[in-house]
Amino acid sequence: MSKAGGCCFRIGYFLYTRTRIGYWYHQKELKKAREKLNGADHSTTSVTEFKDLSILPIPMLLDNYCYLIQDKQTNNVILVDPGDPDRVLKVLKETNIKPDAILITHKHWDHSGGNAKLKSVFPTIRIYGGAMDHIPEVTHPVADGDVIQFGGLKLKVIFTPGHTVGHVVYVLDGSSYGAPDSLFSGDHLFLSGCGRMFEGNASTMLRSLDKIANLKADTLVWPGHEYAEDDLEFTCDLEPENDTAQDKYEWTKRKREVKDATCPSTIHEEKSYNPFLRTGEETILRNLGILASPLSPLNITDDVRSKALAEVRDRKDRFKYKL
Ligand SMILES: [Zn+2]
Repeated sequence: MSKAGGCCFRIGYFLYTRTRIGYWYHQKELKKAREKLNGADHSTTSVTEFKDLSILPIPMLLDNYCYLIQDKQTNNVILVDPGDPDRVLKVLKETNIKPDAILITHKHWDHSGGNAKLKSVFPTIRIYGGAMDHIPEVTHPVADGDVIQFGGLKLKVIFTPGHTVGHVVYVLDGSSYGAPDSLFSGDHLFLSGCGRMFEGNASTMLRSLDKIANLKADTLVWPGHEYAEDDLEFTCDLEPENDTAQDKYEWTKRKREVKDATCPSTIHEEKSYNPFLRTGEETILRNLGILASPLSPLNITDDVRSKALAEVRDRKDRFKYKL
């Protein structure tokens, strides 16, 4: 969706999120994406495996990812954000898999638009989503701290408002598989990016981002969109002295040249280059002109960081990308 702000945007956004017009718009977007990509996927993905755990990103629409999480010993299967039900059904048919549950990060149709069709195909499927987010077809509303378990698959819900008022993310406990945890971050956190603040202000978003920053450093980050190349182009412009960001940008360009997916990254990596997680860093604050150098850590309050976050968001929305 286009930049937040303005009366027309607010009316359009209300119609998109709260009426059937949104579903109709989503169907048009699905059709447009299939035509634009000529039926192909936007990215090539591969399965990540740890003992009995497998995680498969399924590309859909122009840049969305759904995730298929499977415990291969108990055969429990969970889908995260299956916005294109036909694309998911194709994978399920090829692999002869029947899902137990759908986890939805937020109400936007590119994430939740597959719920009705998948429920009609799998009538007993459980659909989880944030209780405050008006997600279609949810059977099990969730709140911060809830735990969802199917066999060995155990996921904790973290409430992350900002992009939408009821956005949640899910953290898969990797311990029983000898794996790192996995964060399914929806439109809250992307590789070097962050979702637009459609339904929250910068201080709300900052609190939600701080929750993510406190996850274990080796947590794998599985975002809702393939935005890495654009996000890192902006990041390198904002913080040109950040060599880690530059290295990740070069790596990402090589991956995207051949349409390879860039997920997952890790929380440790994100904290080293993602400007939305770096609003307390001196280089970012100096480059934004928020505070004069040298900075004292005592000056970097949450108010200062909120102001920095709003400024990063504004600059990113106005940034002129090369392509
Ligand atoms: Zn969204």
